[in-house]
Amino acid sequence: MLKAKCKHGNELCSICLVADDAAKRAWEQVKNIAASTEWGERVNSFLTIRLSDGYCDGTLYENKKDAVKHCGGNEQWYAFFSFRNAPNGFASPKEAGIFLAYHRAAYDRGFRLPDPDDQFGGPDLIVPDMNEHLFDQLGRLMRSSN
Ligand SMILES: [Zn+2]
Repeated sequence: MLKAKCKHGNELCSICLVADDAAKRAWEQVKNIAASTEWGERVNSFLTIRLSDGYCDGTLYENKKDAVKHCGGNEQWYAFFSFRNAPNGFASPKEAGIFLAYHRAAYDRGFRLPDPDDQFGGPDLIVPDMNEHLFDQLGRLMRSSN
């Protein structure tokens, strides 16, 4: 899938990205889960978020491996959200959109992030809290796919 580059020269741009319905849904659901659970309960937990529509069933998994298993072999259609670096959820629908878009881009390029056979369920994507970090991550991702 070839995408046009934006004026910043990015295929996936945290400046240009507009939160879509999936991003808004993910943002709202994660926010509600954060509001209805204790910090200590959720901070080490994982959520599954469906990439196609941002759907999150609200189940808190103790570890990523359990979350990946729950996807029943379709883990490439999901993002795995950890409250560890974002205890109150996404800062905005746009941040949720970036999180989802980044996972989609990684999977598109053949990265296998979730791994049910891995001790920890596979490597994590960190929710970037600064655009520069995201650009760094994306830059590495794009370069490594060439
Ligand atoms: Zn841009």
